[in-house]
Amino acid sequence: MRRISILGATGSIGQNTLDLIGRARADYHVVALTGAGNIAQLAADAIAFNAEIAVTAHPERLNDLRDALAGSSVEAAAGEAALIEAASRPADWIMSAIVGVAGLAPGMAALQNGSTLALANKESLVTAGPLLLATAKARGARILPVDSEHSAVFQALVGEDIAEANRVIITASGGAFRDWPLADLAHATVEQASSHPNWTMGQRITIDSASMFNKALEVIETKEFFGFSPDQIEVLVHPQSLVHALVGFRDGALMAHVGPPDMRHAIGYALHWPIRRDLPVERLDLAQIGTLEFSAPDVARYPALGMARQVMDAGGLSGAVFNAAKERALDHFIAGHVDFVGMSQQVSRALDVMGPQMADGSDVTLETVARADHLTRQHLDQQVAA
Ligand code: NAD
Ligand code: MG
Repeated sequence: MRRISILGATGSIGQNTLDLIGRARADYHVVALTGAGNIAQLAADAIAFNAEIAVTAHPERLNDLRDALAGSSVEAAAGEAALIEAASRPADWIMSAIVGVAGLAPGMAALQNGSTLALANKESLVTAGPLLLATAKARGARILPVDSEHSAVFQALVGEDIAEANRVIITASGGAFRDWPLADLAHATVEQASSHPNWTMGQRITIDSASMFNKALEVIETKEFFGFSPDQIEVLVHPQSLVHALVGFRDGALMAHVGPPDMRHAIGYALHWPIRRDLPVERLDLAQIGTLEFSAPDVARYPALGMARQVMDAGGLSGAVFNAAKERALDHFIAGHVDFVGMSQQVSRALDVMGPQMADGSDVTLETVARADHLTRQHLDQQVAA
């Protein structure tokens, strides 16, 4: 039996992971499941999957979790230290699916312990890519990509020498506002930004798809994970969301990964790697689909893509600054303090002001990332209040 844990089990990726595990219960021993505010879901899953421990990120919810687990043998714990303890418990495979920079320290703890880390939490690579990779290397731990584009690149590279790849294209649906007149974007509501044309995902990443902050993070993730240089990484708008990425080789070949927009494909690939197994995903009927379209993204519509370049050029802690500014600006957008266009403007300003203070030369450690994150959020809050 494989020992597995899921960090962020109650979220969209976490639930899709449990769906796959649930189809082959006898193959897995569930060590830890973690969540935040959704105690009922966390407890129900921990009991159903007979987990050793369930952890909520919120210390004030510990009693609720205990009550919900009463009568079961599942241990209850809460808070950041408990998350790290749970992630450190021996496991063969750990899903990192907490949303935001909060996923960094638990993911690092899993790697420290030599566990294979299935990485959905792109924020870890954006804020601390070199640290994550160095830790994995030092501990003999493997990181497997779960973000669909990165899983696609990973699959397109099977059997290839990455040194012969000189180009990578990741695709973007264009999000909720792809076809909106630019002038209307400032009036876009949270509800409108929260509906994605092709994928069903958590609310934050769905809004980040409309602004392409998600794609900006993924561009940086591509650089960090595979070591492509910034000028080798391209983004194309592909409304059908069926081709997730393409890798280009020196002889001109482009190897594309095509699959249904269902995260259970990428999660399942990481779960069963290096072999392939049956997965409960749709079989694509390309004749019925008929057309696959690609176009260059409009930089005025998606300023986040330019910011990704700025971050990659600056290096150091600028990924932590960018991510923190983006996370905080998103909080303010959801709370109604800034409009959709203002969100990008705030992040850009934060990057201009805070970025140079935090650029190359600063060591990337959990402590320096946490400090950059804190200072940037503070800066952004002051900007919004002004
Ligand atoms: P989600 O919002 O649906 O779930 C997030 C999970 O994190 C929940 O279990 C929640 O309880 C937990 N969480 C929230 N705040 C926390 C905190 N402060 N500390 C600890 N735990 C906390 O998010 P999601 O859509 O499942 O995305 C998870 C991660 O996977 C993100 O990094 C996202 O970018 C990435 N990702 C998601 C998708 C997708 O299809 N949903 C695709 C690719 C990558
Ligand atoms: Mg993605």
